[in-house]
Amino acid sequence: MSTIAAIATGNSVGGIGVIRISGEQAIQIADRVFQPMDKSSLCKLKGYRAKYGNVIINNTPSDNGVALVFRAPRSYTGEDVVEISVHGGLLTVQKTLQAVLDAGAVPAQAGEFTKRAFLNGKMDLTQAESVAQIISAQGEAAMKASFNAMQGSLSNKINAVLQILLDTSAVMSAWVDYPDEEIPELEENDLMSSLQKCEGELDCLLKNYDNGQTIIGGVDTVIAGMPNVGKSSLMNMLVGRDKSIVTHIAGTTRDIVEESVRLGNIVLHLRDTAGLRQSDDVVESIGIDKAYKALDDAQLVLAVFDNGRELCERDFDLIERCKGKNAVAVINKNDLEQRLDIEKIQNAFNKVVSISAQNREGLSELESAVEQMLGVSDFDTNAPMLANSRQRQNCQNALECIKQAIDGLSMGVTYDALNVMIDSACDELLSLTGKKATSEVVNNIFSKFCVGK
Ligand code: GDP
Repeated sequence: MSTIAAIATGNSVGGIGVIRISGEQAIQIADRVFQPMDKSSLCKLKGYRAKYGNVIINNTPSDNGVALVFRAPRSYTGEDVVEISVHGGLLTVQKTLQAVLDAGAVPAQAGEFTKRAFLNGKMDLTQAESVAQIISAQGEAAMKASFNAMQGSLSNKINAVLQILLDTSAVMSAWVDYPDEEIPELEENDLMSSLQKCEGELDCLLKNYDNGQTIIGGVDTVIAGMPNVGKSSLMNMLVGRDKSIVTHIAGTTRDIVEESVRLGNIVLHLRDTAGLRQSDDVVESIGIDKAYKALDDAQLVLAVFDNGRELCERDFDLIERCKGKNAVAVINKNDLEQRLDIEKIQNAFNKVVSISAQNREGLSELESAVEQMLGVSDFDTNAPMLANSRQRQNCQNALECIKQAIDGLSMGVTYDALNVMIDSACDELLSLTGKKATSEVVNNIFSKFCVGK
């Protein structure tokens, strides 16, 4: 396998820049480019040792740096690795990389270091994917979940389920293959409870994924309601500063304003919609059409009503549009005398909160209503979590095979047939962790990484 090299740090000026080299020739190649101050050779250096020295470009010392040597298999990739840290100017980093390439390395492809780590058994696919995830993590929950996965929490969970399936399959095979031997009669209750345990574990992973996506990815949220009910004021309360223009003249929020805010554990991608009402004003009616479209597409609707005003036809329209959606009714202006028929709202919505956007009151009630509505109030960021749709699909397929096996067992299908279903479930889990993933899947995963990782 060729020796690869790439800049491991970002493509911007920084205190230091790191060039990473991995492969059989890594140390010899680094030795041609890097001259330790004590005139020793990197080739003589043990693993986990560093030398301070000069980077030599075209026979001329060009920068000072530190070379860190890792010897196979005790390195990130499992191969010999050298990391040369130089001063972090774009030019010096690039020139050092070029010198390393001239000395015999080839440019690394996207994710190739991590791919080699996977191929050399240093990590499984879930761990490799968590490396990419930790690099791109935007929120604390995402970072925590990726770190847990990198430590192997997801692989451990999957492997535990896999082990139960393999054991179950092994006893059934033995029973089928050696009916004359002294193998004790199979306890169907035991088989059933093993399968149900696996079903429960995978089910839990899938639920956690859906909640995790909500927490990590954020929720498309629409603030909807009649003009003047206080949508912009609510948005401002959530954002914490005056983003939308709040005014007394009905219909001043012409279009959809976008902003992402954190509400407790959840990130809301907010759209403050133009007031939902018919209008002859062309500009405004474009806004209204967009508002209805946004409402239909939203994952969460905050339907705002004015406590100081009776419900009108357009309010009922909004109530109708919210049916079947994750919608929280927000009764605003609770500082005003109540004219609103709150009972009608309570009958139409599962969650109703009363706030005063102007006085910035009711935020924590809104927070818990939203968390309960989205089912994330008891989300555990420490629990193992599937990281992406690939892993989710494998897990879902495995769960379906297990459910079939459970049905089959209760209907008395043969152990042979049950084993086929259990084997399929095992295959799905093996491809999830990468023990049986096709090279297309593997290549596809690593092609999404950045170069140098
Ligand atoms: P939008 O058209 O739905 O975006 O409504 P705005 O946010 O522009 O608010 C319309 C008017 O209601 C403004 O004059 C706000 O000051 C007022 N308003 C907003 N929230 C409250 C509240 O909690 N109490 C009272 N009394 N007035 C409010």
